[in-house]
Amino acid sequence: MEIKQRLMKIVGPERVADGAAEKHVYSYDMTENPSLPPSLVVMPQTLEEVQQIVQAANTTKTPLIPFVTGQSVGGLTIPAVEGAVIVDLKRMNRIIEVDEEAMYVLVEPGVTFGHLKKYLDDHHPTLRYTYPLAPPYTSVLANALLEGLCDLSTRHGAMADFINGLEAVLPTGEVVRVGTGASGEGNWFSRYPLPDLVGLFAGWQGMTGIVTKMALQLWPKMPFNRHVGLLCFGEEPTIRMLTRIARTQVLDDSVCVSTPLVKMVSGVAAPVELYDGEPDYGMLLTVSGNTETEVSEKINVIRRIVNEERETDSRHVLISWEGLMKLMGDQWGPFVDLPSEMYKVLAEHDGLTWVGTYIHPKYWKTVLEEGRAIVEKYGFELIANLKAMKGMHFGEFKFIFRFPKDDDTVKRVRECNAELLDLALSYGAIPYKTPVWAAKKLQERLDPNFVMLMRRVQRALDPNGIMNPGRWGLDERD
Ligand SMILES: Cc1cc2nc3c(=O)[nH]c(=O)nc-3n(C[C@H](O)[C@H](O)[C@H](O)COP(=O)(O)OP(=O)(O)OC[C@H]3O[C@@H](n4cnc5c(N)ncnc54)[C@H](O)[C@@H]3O)c2cc1C
Repeated sequence: MEIKQRLMKIVGPERVADGAAEKHVYSYDMTENPSLPPSLVVMPQTLEEVQQIVQAANTTKTPLIPFVTGQSVGGLTIPAVEGAVIVDLKRMNRIIEVDEEAMYVLVEPGVTFGHLKKYLDDHHPTLRYTYPLAPPYTSVLANALLEGLCDLSTRHGAMADFINGLEAVLPTGEVVRVGTGASGEGNWFSRYPLPDLVGLFAGWQGMTGIVTKMALQLWPKMPFNRHVGLLCFGEEPTIRMLTRIARTQVLDDSVCVSTPLVKMVSGVAAPVELYDGEPDYGMLLTVSGNTETEVSEKINVIRRIVNEERETDSRHVLISWEGLMKLMGDQWGPFVDLPSEMYKVLAEHDGLTWVGTYIHPKYWKTVLEEGRAIVEKYGFELIANLKAMKGMHFGEFKFIFRFPKDDDTVKRVRECNAELLDLALSYGAIPYKTPVWAAKKLQERLDPNFVMLMRRVQRALDPNGIMNPGRWGLDERD
C-alpha cells in the first residue's frame, strides 16, 4: 500500500493533504533557504496516531518532518529531501497538567506561547513561563527543543534548560519517556538524577523522534517588576556594561539591540538608518523582586555601574521605562509584555533571517564590531541583537535581516549570512537552529569524533533514516 493510503487509514482522509496549495505552503519559510515541497501533509491528533504514522513510514521508508508552525527562522521544516511527509502537530494542543507545587507544565506540541500565557494568567496567576520575541502563535515545545532564548534566559539560560522531561515516539515507533516522568504520571519534577536523555531530543531538529509531550519549568510571578532602558555608545563600552550588569545577578533578562531596531519599533519607516550622534545600542533590562525596595536596590546596582562608565563617556544614559515610553511612544508597551505583536516590525517584508549564535564572553565585543562592518559592507539595515545568557556564562548574538525576497537581495543575504557565520565560527561561536548550509560549515570546525558520535546516535535511533533526513548535514550514509 502507498504511504498516502496508509496515512488516510490512520487519521482519516480529511487530515491528509497533497493538493498543490498545501504542498506549496509547507515548501518554504521566511528565510533565504531554498524551498522544496513535501509529497504530503498529515495532521495527527493523538499519541497513537503519531505512533502509527511513524510505524507506517518505517514500512515504506518515507521521510517524516515534525512541524508545528514553521517559524524557526532556520529553514528547519523545509524538506531537505524529496518525497517527505510533513507531520503537522498543531492539533495536539492540550495543556495536560500544571503542577503548582513542583512548578511545571506538561504540554503537547501544538500549545502556543499565546495559549500558555492566557491559560496561566487565567488559572495559575502566581506562575509564569518565559516568552520569546516570536509570534504568539508559535510552539512552546518546539521552541524548547530548539535551545533558543526567551525573557528569562539572562537568569536561567537557553530554552532546553527549562525542560524537565518529555515523551517521544522514537523513529522505530516505540513510545519513551525521559526525565522523572519516566517513573509515572504526575511526577515530571526534574530531568535529574537519571541519565540526562533529554539530550537525545533537544537540539536535534526532529531527527531523533517526534516529541508528543514535554514538561517545562514554570517560575513564580514576582509581585514587583521593573524595566529600564540603557542607551549606549560604541561596541566595547556596550558589551562591557552589559557584561558587568549581568554578572551582578540582578537581572531577569537583558535585550540589547542596535539603534535602528529601536527606531523601527518606534515607528520609523524602512530603510532605517543610524545618524551621527545617535546612540549605537539600546538595552532593555528587566528586574523583579518580592518588594519595591528589593527592586529599587537592584536598579541602584545597575545605576552604579552606568555612572562609573559615564565617567569615561557621559553620553551613556540610563532611562526609566516611563521615560522611555514618553520618548518613544506607547507602541513600546508590548515589548515588556511578551509574547506580543512586536514581531511585526521584523515582518516588514516577506523575508526574515539570521544566524543566531552562542559565544564565549571574551569574543563578544570583537564579533559585534567585525559583524557590524560586514553588515554595513552589504548595505543592510543594522539590526544586531544580543542577550547575556545564564548569569553571563555566555553571550548570544545575531544580526537580523528583514528583506524582500527578490533574487538579487536573496543572493546578497546568503553571502552576508555566510560571511557572518565564518566570522562567528572563527571566534568559536556555535550557531543555534542551524540550517543545513550552516551545519555543514560548523561540522568542518567540530571535532570529527563529535560528529561521528552524532551520526552513531542518530543511526542507532533511526536505522531506516526516516526522521527529518538531511538536517544537520548528517544525510550521507557512508
Ligand atoms: C519574528 C520572530 C521572532 C523570533 N524570536 C525568537 C526568540 O526571541 N527566541 C527564540 O528562541 N525563538 C524565536 N523565534 C523562533 C521561533 O519562534 C521558535 O523557534 C518557535 O517557537 C518554534 O516553533 P515552531 O512552531 O515555529 O516550530 P517549527 O518551525 O514547526 O519546528 C522547529 C523544529 O523543531 C522540529 N520539531 C517541531 N516539533 C517537534 C516535535 N514535536 N518533535 C520533534 N521535533 C519537532 C521541527 O522538525 C523543526 O526542526 C522567532 C521567530 C520569529 C518569526
